[in-house]
Amino acid sequence: MKRAHRFDVVVIGAGGAGLMAARYAAQNPNVSVAVITKLYPTRSHTGAAQGGVGAALGNVTEDRAEWHAFDTIKGGDYLTDQDVAELFSHEVIEAVYELEHMGLPFSRTPDGRIAQRKFGGHTREFGKSAVERACYAADRTGHMILQTLYQQSIKDDVAFFNEFYVLDLIIEGGECRGAVAFELATGELHTFHAKSTIIATGGNGRMFKVTSNAHALTGDLMSIAYRRGIPIEDPEFYQFHPTGLYKLGVLLTEGARGEGGILRNADGERFMERYAPSIKDLAPRDMVSRAMYLEIREGRGAGPEKDYIYLDLTHIDAAIIEERLPDITEFARIYLGVDPVTEMVPIQPTAHYAMGGIPTTIDTNVISDGRNTIVGGLYAAGEVACASLHGANRLGTNSLGDLIVFGRRAGIRAAAHAAGAEYGPLPSDNQDASRELLERLRAGPRTERVAHLRRELQDSMQDNASVFRTQELLEKQVGILADIKARMLHIGCEDPGQQYNTELMEAVELGFLYDNAEQLVFAALNRTESRGAHSREDHRERDDTDWLKHTLIYKDGDGVRIDYKPVTMGKYEPKPRIY
Ligand SMILES: Cc1cc2nc3c(=O)[nH]c(=O)nc-3n(C[C@H](O)[C@H](O)[C@H](O)COP(=O)(O)OP(=O)(O)OC[C@H]3O[C@@H](n4cnc5c(N)ncnc54)[C@H](O)[C@@H]3O)c2cc1C
Repeated sequence: MKRAHRFDVVVIGAGGAGLMAARYAAQNPNVSVAVITKLYPTRSHTGAAQGGVGAALGNVTEDRAEWHAFDTIKGGDYLTDQDVAELFSHEVIEAVYELEHMGLPFSRTPDGRIAQRKFGGHTREFGKSAVERACYAADRTGHMILQTLYQQSIKDDVAFFNEFYVLDLIIEGGECRGAVAFELATGELHTFHAKSTIIATGGNGRMFKVTSNAHALTGDLMSIAYRRGIPIEDPEFYQFHPTGLYKLGVLLTEGARGEGGILRNADGERFMERYAPSIKDLAPRDMVSRAMYLEIREGRGAGPEKDYIYLDLTHIDAAIIEERLPDITEFARIYLGVDPVTEMVPIQPTAHYAMGGIPTTIDTNVISDGRNTIVGGLYAAGEVACASLHGANRLGTNSLGDLIVFGRRAGIRAAAHAAGAEYGPLPSDNQDASRELLERLRAGPRTERVAHLRRELQDSMQDNASVFRTQELLEKQVGILADIKARMLHIGCEDPGQQYNTELMEAVELGFLYDNAEQLVFAALNRTESRGAHSREDHRERDDTDWLKHTLIYKDGDGVRIDYKPVTMGKYEPKPRIY
C-alpha cells in the first residue's frame, strides 16, 4: 500500500462526529474525503451511547428550542457560550429528522412519531418541571446512530483507513496540511496531505480508574494539538456520571431515571429530594454525583464498606424495563448478578465526559488563542472539541446532539474551504517527530512498565482530581504527575515486531493520557472557585466576578501556561442553580 495520500478533506475519527462530518463533506461533489480511525468505525465509543439525543420536537409534551437552550446554559453553570447553545437547540431538531430520514430506527410513540423521554436537567418553561426531550432507540441510541452513519458513508464513497493511529498533525505557518498516522497492520508511517483536516477523536476518560469510557479513549488528539502549540479549553471541567456499576464504571443510562428510576442511600431514603426538591433524581449530573459522594461521606452509603448508592427500578413495570432499558438490565445481571426488575442495583459515579477540549469557533474552526485566531484548514467536532456548548457541565443527551450538529457543520465548512483552496506545500520532515517517538519507545530500557504507570496515573487521578478537589490534593497530584513523567522515560517495548504491535501503541497512548491529566490538574489547581463539575472544597462558591471565563492551557516548554477567553453571554444572566 502506498504511504503518501492526498485527500481534500481528511477526518480523524469515525465516531458520530467523524462520520457525520465525512458524510456532509462528501455531499460536496468537488472534494475527496477520507476517514482515518484507530478503531474499526462501528467500534467507536458513540456505539456505547444509550439514553438518547435531546431535541425539542415536542412529540410527547409541548417543548421549545428556547427552553432547551436555557437548560443547556443553566446546566453548564453559565460557562456555556450562549450563541452556541441557541444555534444548537434549533439545529439539533433538523439534525434528528435528518437521521430519521437516513433510516435510523428510533423508538416510536403509539401514533408513530419519534418517542421521547425525560433526562436530567431538561425542563419546560425555564425550569418548571421535567420535559420529555430525549429521542431514543431503546437504550441503544448511539449504536443506531453509528450504524446508520457508517452505512451512509460507505454509500457516499468515503475512503476509510481503519486501524490507523494518528500520531501527529502537520501544522505550518498557522495552517494545517494534514496528519501522520501509524498503520497497525504493518507498523508503517503514512502521510495524509489535506486541504482541510477535521479532528473528531472523542474523549479521554481513560485517565481515571473508574470510567464509562472505552479503552481507546486516551485523548490522543487533545495531546497532539497541545504538543503542536494549540491550547486546550476548560479541561478542568470533567463530568462524573452518577450511575456507573459499582467498581466497574460500566454505564447505566440516565434514561433509567428518565423512566422513573430512583436513587436511594443505605437507609432506603430518596436523598435527592433534599438536594434538588423540584426535579430530584433528574437534577444535572454534577449535582447528583456530588450528592452521592456526600451521602457516602456522611456514612449513608450502602454495602459492607458503605461506599455505594442504589439505583432502584423495582417499582417500574417489568415490561417497560425490558422494552426500554434492555441493555442496561443485561449489564446489571451479567456484571453484578443483580436483577434490576426485583433488586436495587449498586452504583457509584463514573468518569464520563470531557466538557473541555480543542477550542473552536461556532463554525468548528480550531483556534489558537483567546482572540479567536483561526488555524487555517483545521476543524474539530464532537467530544474532543470545545465550542463551548456544555460549559462547566454537560446535560445528558446533549453530546449526541453535539456530534450531529457540529459534525455536520464541520463537514460542510471543511469541504467548502477545501473546494476553494490549493494544497499547501508539505514539509519534507513531516514524519520525523512520529518516527523519533516510535524509535525512542522501541529502544527504551524497559525498567518501568507501561501498565504500571498507567494504573498509577488512573488511581491517583481518581483519588486527587475527581468529584471533589482541594489545593492540597491537586498539589499532591502535580507531584505524582512529575514522578510519572520522569519514569515514563524508562518505559520500552518488549515486542520488536512491526505488525500489530499494540504494545507500542499502548506506550504512545500513555504519553497522550499523561498530557490530558496534566492539562486537567493544572487548570483545576488554577481555578479557585466551584462551578459545574469543578468542585473545590476550599473554594465552594461560584465566583462570577473573577471566574466567568474560559481557561486556555498551553504547553510551555516543560511546564504549562494559562490564559483565558471570555464567555459569550446572551439573554441569560448567571443565577444560582436551583432545581
Ligand atoms: C457508555 C456511554 C454512554 C453514553 N450515552 C450517551 C447518551 O445517551 N447521550 C449522549 O448524548 N451522550 C452519551 N454519551 C457520550 C457520547 O456518547 C460521546 O461523547 C460521543 O459518542 C463521542 O463521540 P465522538 O464522535 O466525539 O467520538 P467517539 O465516538 O469516541 O469516536 C472517536 C473516534 O476517534 C478515533 N480515534 C481516536 N484517537 C485516534 C487516533 N489517534 N488516530 C485515529 N483515530 C483515532 C477512534 O477510532 C474513534 O473512531 C455516552 C458515553 C458513554 C461512554
